[in-house]
Parts: sequence; C-alpha cells; structure tokens
Amino acid sequence: MPKSRQLDSSASPRFAQPATFMRLPHQTDLTGVDVAILGAPFDSGTSYRSGARLGPREIRSQSSLIRPYSFFQKVSPFDQLCVVDAGDIDVPPVSIERAYEAIRLGVARVLEAGAVPMVVGGDHSISLPCLRAVAAKHGPVALIQFDAHIDTWGDYFGGKYFHGSPFRRAIEEGLLKDGAYVQVGIRGPMYGEEADFAFQIAHRVTLIDIVQAKRDGIARTVDRIRELVDGPVYVTFDIDAVDPAYAPGTGTPEVGGFTSYEAQELVRGLAGLDVVGCDVVEVAPQFDGPGQITALLAANLMFELLCVIARR
Ligand code: MN
Ligand code: MN
Repeated sequence: MPKSRQLDSSASPRFAQPATFMRLPHQTDLTGVDVAILGAPFDSGTSYRSGARLGPREIRSQSSLIRPYSFFQKVSPFDQLCVVDAGDIDVPPVSIERAYEAIRLGVARVLEAGAVPMVVGGDHSISLPCLRAVAAKHGPVALIQFDAHIDTWGDYFGGKYFHGSPFRRAIEEGLLKDGAYVQVGIRGPMYGEEADFAFQIAHRVTLIDIVQAKRDGIARTVDRIRELVDGPVYVTFDIDAVDPAYAPGTGTPEVGGFTSYEAQELVRGLAGLDVVGCDVVEVAPQFDGPGQITALLAANLMFELLCVIARR
C-alpha cells in the first residue's frame, strides 16, 4: 500500500494539472507526513545574478517526469514514506531578516509535525533559517554542503546576511556540530588563502575541493564524507556545485564542476545517514539552457535525496 500517492500517469498525462513536486498532493496539513517539500522562493540574498526566487516553480514543473522507483538505490520512496508538497513559504522579498523569520517558522512547522523538511530555494541564504529551525529541534547538526563556493564569508555591504555567509553565521550561532561540517566541490578563483580559509581552518571545516574529489573519484569522496559525519545531518545542495555545462541556470556559475551523473552518485552515497533536513538551492530558471536542464537536474537530485531518506 503506497503511503504517498502521485497522480497516476496512466490516467492523467504527466504534462497535465497544476505542477506539484513529482505530482504529489499539495497538502498543508502535515499530520502523518514523513517528508514535506517546501518552497522558499527568495533571492534577495544574491550577490551577482538574481532569479532563484523562480526556482521552486520551475523545479516542480520539471519534476513531473520523474518515475517513483530508484533502480540504483533499490527503493520506492513513496511506498516507505508519506511525502507531500506543502507549497511555498510566503517569503517577504524585501527584508532578509523578515524573510529569515518566515522561513524559520515554515521549517519549524514541518519539524513540529514530525516530518523531514526538504526545502527548495531560493538562493543559498535560505539555509541559515532552515538550520536555525533544525538545530532548535535536534541540537547542533552535522552539515554536508555541495557547492562551488565556501559560503563562510563575512559581512557584505555592511549586512550580515547574504548567500555568501549562511554557514559562517550557522557556526557563530552554534547550529553546527564541531568538526562535522564538510564542503564538497569547492573551486573557482578566490580572494586569498587568508580571506577565504582562515575562518574555515579555525572552525575545523573540512574542505574537499573539486580537484581532490575528481582525483579521488566519487566512491572515495563519499567515504571521506561519511567518515566525518554521524548523528543528525543536514544536507545542502547548491546547484552550482555542478558544472555550468550541465547546470547553467544559476546565479554565480563556476566552470570545472561535477557532472550531473557525479552529483547523483554523490547524493546516493549518503544513504544510511540520518538526514533530518535538506535543501536544494540556487536554481535560477532565466539562465537555464534548453530543456530546462538545471531545474530537471535539481528535481532529480531531490528525488535521490528522498530515496536516501527512505533508506534511513
Ligand atoms: Mn552556495
Ligand atoms: Mn555556490
């Protein structure tokens, strides 16, 4: 007996009906729900090209093609879990402090219902209020960040909050478990060893840059990640971890990244971890390529994350 029910594609064509994530029910009553998909359409934390506020809408649209069984993870997540599309948080677009409070409350509501939040950004600044809510429930968590960028920079134009600082703030606020924060896929021109990495070294952040990941291969990289985290873990996937040849629809693209396939394998490698919350961020549909390949990839990575949660 399936616990979540997608629209039946033999009765309703995949391109019909208002788009929800993977054609799951749109449901705001979270009683009995195991995983809630929650949009956070906010991009006022961007430093270069905005547009990720339109990510949730396009990712839902592209997700309508995804079938329910993972041959590679050997799981049908909707047989194991009750998953619903809880819609979007009505995030105020003009004040980042107010936006953060709306996002924190939205995610806390999911957690209070006993469900795992899977948040769709939005730019990467939204991960901070998600982590505030998650840490309020679980205490300091391990963090796995797939990203081209470290996102532990300091203030920007006099503001504490933007998409380059969420994880510095998370460390300062005590939301992360010491020594259990790993970044994967870091690359691109930087500011300097001191400017970029002094804070990270002081706070025992583990960095697996793109050269290490490609040289070691995906399997060894997954092993390294798994050696570092245990207990409750939050996974954040910035789509710019993937090469812009595969994921052009993003605000701060960096060449020389993961392939779509490597991204899938990295996420699949997390199976068995206690994922208590996750997000996929920085999909900006206006910069996407033909076929909306970035939004399609993001939707598929969310599916892989659902399979990981189903295998807990
Ligand atoms: Mn990021
Ligand atoms: Mn990034």
